[in-house]
Amino acid sequence: MLLVASTNAELGFATGMEILRAGGSALDAVEAVIRLVESNPEDHSVGYSGLPNILGQVELDASIMDGKTRAAGAVCAVKNFEHPISIARQVMERLPHVMLAGAGAERFARELGMKKKNLLTDAARAIYENKVSDYPRYNILRELVSRATHDPEIAASNDEYGDESSGRLSKTNDHSPPHGTTNVIAIDLRGNLASGVSTSGWAWKYPGRVGDSPIIGAGNYCDNRYGACACTGYGEMAMRANTAHSVVLYLKMGMTLQRAAREAMQDLRALTVPFPPGMNLVAVDANGKHVGFTTETDRVVEYVFQTEKMKMPRKKKRSIVPLER
Ligand code: ASP
Repeated sequence: MLLVASTNAELGFATGMEILRAGGSALDAVEAVIRLVESNPEDHSVGYSGLPNILGQVELDASIMDGKTRAAGAVCAVKNFEHPISIARQVMERLPHVMLAGAGAERFARELGMKKKNLLTDAARAIYENKVSDYPRYNILRELVSRATHDPEIAASNDEYGDESSGRLSKTNDHSPPHGTTNVIAIDLRGNLASGVSTSGWAWKYPGRVGDSPIIGAGNYCDNRYGACACTGYGEMAMRANTAHSVVLYLKMGMTLQRAAREAMQDLRALTVPFPPGMNLVAVDANGKHVGFTTETDRVVEYVFQTEKMKMPRKKKRSIVPLER
């Protein structure tokens, strides 16, 4: 029995462990932990109170994968629903599809009886407005912020992007704005694995931008036979290198977990990137070994884990694989 996650998921560990100790499934534990992170108003990288896109609209991505069946569900660019992880789970459980995007995912959530909610909190809006002053070269942002503040339609993250000036904003990509994600991998008492990822993605992203978190194989992959991996960081890198699946594939090829995760991190070195990139992953193998890796060299990046023998979760430093050789 095991939970492994990005550190912002620690607040859900008591709930997740309770589910696992009671014989609940790894899938249920993953979903329950992630829902708590999605509801945390202090966390501006996931769910409610996530940081918005460049138009001031919160857009969420999430995915979940069942290691036993390799069934997966995902949603992307979802507005106005607090728990994209649960919509993703229902996509997996109820539809013959893996991913729903935007309006389709929102429609499905409404059909499931999920309640709409304005996800842009005052705190997230304040960060958005302050941050914009860090971008003096992009005066157009000020106009948009003012619209986001005064136009209730945009502030409520309506269904339309409807902004004629958004094309001009795509050039803001030479900055590295705030970002974050939560990811959780669980192994239950029956030895089944599950993994989940949820995020509001990169702040100030271009409307409709989708990162690695909902892409099965990029930000999330899980296979009972070998192991699981979930990523955080500059999702475009994980999408281009298929990082989560790479770790599991390297495990299949016979590498140890350490070696497999290191190899997948080293694969990122071949990518050109527009701004100081950071990529992180957590991974487990089918025997319950776990690792965390990061590309970041100038700060300590940790992950969190708990086994059935532990009363409390413990944090562990991630191994560093710098992008520069
Ligand atoms: N991977 C997420 C994304 O690219 C963001 C993050 O984890 O920081 O959307």
